[in-house]
Amino acid sequence: MAVARILFTLPLPEPFDYAVPEGMTLQPGSYVAAPVGPHDRLGIVVDVLGDDVATGRKLKTVTAVYDAPPMGAPMREFLAWVARYTVTHPGQVLAMALRAREGLLPSPVETRYRATGKLPDRMTPARQKVLEVSRTVPNCPDLSRNDQLWSAVDLASAANVSSGVVKGLAEAGVLEAVELETDPSFAIPDPDRKGAVLTGEQAVAAGELKAAIHAGGFSAFLLDGVTGSGKTEVYFEAIAETLKSDPEAQILVLLPEIALTQAILARFEARFGAAPAPWHSGLSPKDRRRTWREAVHGRARIVIGARSALFLPYRKLRLIIVDEEHDTSFKQEDGVTYHARDLAVMRAKLEGGQVILASATPALETAVNAEAGRYVHLRLAARPGASRLPDIELVDLRTAPPGKGKWLSPVLERALMETLANGEQSLLFLNRRGYAPLVICKACGERLKTPGTENWLTEHRYSGRLVCHVTGYSIPKPTKCPQCGAPDSLMGVGPGVERVAEEVRTLLPHARIEIFSSDTAQGADVTRSLVERMERSEIDVMIGTQIVAKGHNFPNLTLVGVVDADSGLKGGDLRAGERTYQLLSQVAGRAGRAERPGRALVQTYAPDNPAMEALAANDRDGFLQIERDVRSELVLPPFGRLAAMILSAPSADLVDKAALDIAAAAPNGDGIEVFGPAPAPITVLRGRHRRRFLVKSPRIIDLSAYMAAWTARLRLPSQVRISIDIDPYSF
Ligand code: ADP
Repeated sequence: MAVARILFTLPLPEPFDYAVPEGMTLQPGSYVAAPVGPHDRLGIVVDVLGDDVATGRKLKTVTAVYDAPPMGAPMREFLAWVARYTVTHPGQVLAMALRAREGLLPSPVETRYRATGKLPDRMTPARQKVLEVSRTVPNCPDLSRNDQLWSAVDLASAANVSSGVVKGLAEAGVLEAVELETDPSFAIPDPDRKGAVLTGEQAVAAGELKAAIHAGGFSAFLLDGVTGSGKTEVYFEAIAETLKSDPEAQILVLLPEIALTQAILARFEARFGAAPAPWHSGLSPKDRRRTWREAVHGRARIVIGARSALFLPYRKLRLIIVDEEHDTSFKQEDGVTYHARDLAVMRAKLEGGQVILASATPALETAVNAEAGRYVHLRLAARPGASRLPDIELVDLRTAPPGKGKWLSPVLERALMETLANGEQSLLFLNRRGYAPLVICKACGERLKTPGTENWLTEHRYSGRLVCHVTGYSIPKPTKCPQCGAPDSLMGVGPGVERVAEEVRTLLPHARIEIFSSDTAQGADVTRSLVERMERSEIDVMIGTQIVAKGHNFPNLTLVGVVDADSGLKGGDLRAGERTYQLLSQVAGRAGRAERPGRALVQTYAPDNPAMEALAANDRDGFLQIERDVRSELVLPPFGRLAAMILSAPSADLVDKAALDIAAAAPNGDGIEVFGPAPAPITVLRGRHRRRFLVKSPRIIDLSAYMAAWTARLRLPSQVRISIDIDPYSF
């Protein structure tokens, strides 16, 4: 009797041994169900061992094996590497890969009906109605390929009859029953469709990529080009080449969640004649299951998704593209904390494939890796055609402040008026949702916070509520101060997009003004309609949060105003300057994409901050150089390593006591510095009080191993939880 060693999707420290029943064939990577406690659990086989391992042991038996290609060795190696690197249980990492486990079952089948053309022997008004409806197309977007196929329920309800009428017509042969897979395969992309005629430098970059794909084996590229220089067109060529190189090759395109719009999916479809398989948090369970199954079986050739798409068990992943690789949304902060860009490079290495990191403003880590020769650096310097980069001017708010109670300086006001007079569009950028980021009581000075935390409540006038942007806590705006009871004394302080919109309405009473933030653009339809109206010039001034920074191309947009460029510079984040530079240059890049020249006005109180100076000079490399010098001097990433340990407990006392024990248990390590405990950046989250240790080391030290050794020594009360964040982004 053979023995299978099984890793479950549970936070268990190691795999367990099970007996393989007669007649069941397993191999490493097989997906199986086996009993853990009273229930069958999902796991994968990590090893199959001979019968000698079973001798003298009473083993439970594997219940079932799923009909799916076993997970390949590179993927299993990848999961093990991630567990080690992030200091988590391998089973927890496996659970991320098997998130849509229902996809292991065959696609369910549904019965649909269509008219055969035959007429019933006996026609009744009800039957007549069903026949009429059955000749039309059901309003069912996911089945649009199957034009006149109706479910019995939909057909009966559209015809306003009982479903017995439909059944009767089916029995009489007037309607034909068709068995339909509910999650069918994705259409196959065609690499031979014509793409854009590449410019000289685009062709050079595409040529290098194709040569690497042709040669095979791991290689990594930084595709570095200003917004609109054609990076997407260039990586389309790499995708086409990969599709051609191997009929089973799969390609993964990672994008920030926010950039996964209909527009980008449509662009893929236009290029390859087939929509890619999507993967993001907005998918229905059904669509999730479909993409997962198709990826596992190797039938989804191109998957386009947010960071977690990296964990799908592709059958044969040959190429990974990380677009907007600098984007901090690739960093997962919850549960298993990882950075999808860094992991994408490791995954490509283990798969022996290629990885392309694309950006107009590469992360310092990536720029340093490219310079060190670890990535091939491909540059695109020009925007094709007449389109050119906008002029960026800093508006020094110290010398030209906005009027009292206003947020727009006279320079920006004038520019808005001129742009409207020219029949062109403006975009005002402010990365703050709602009306005002803080609400205080004029009578007693109370600042309204989420109960039990230090998080301010943001006023939202649009919805009439006060909302916590950290925890999601929300209440209707009170009519009197909850502290002193004074009526009508609550006042919003500071600007949010709603307040700026109000100011623009007063300045430009006849302009068509819209807010574009995650509050106003809820759902794909609303977003699409806002984008389309902007494209058709039906909006004069758009006021948006970072949701507008990405992926859109508005040909008539010539003015970008950054309302508060300094907001991102505050706080103790080591990447604050970098992030501000990236975000603002991306926002500014929205202006002047077509033939019209663009202009960006950036309001700041810190015009001599290096990030601002470099922005105005359009000197990205100069900016990176300054960042590099600072981080190298301070031995911060990528020149040193950082890790955080967050501990949390239901009460402040408990967490503080645990923090002392944890501090005492920190192993000594050469060159390793431990800072803390200190309050975590989010001090209270979902009722738990949080503290943080920050650990710093030189690059050559394996900080993951150090953190694992530290946590292994801890014996904590059950109410105290810890989590490790290697290379933390927010602190
Ligand atoms: P990026 O990804 O660098 O922002 P895109 O690939 O999206 O750039 O290109 C910007 C715009 O320019 C797109 O509308 C694209 O279709 C167009 N474009 C890029 N390269 C070419 C080309 N060689 N010929 C025609 N149009 C191009």
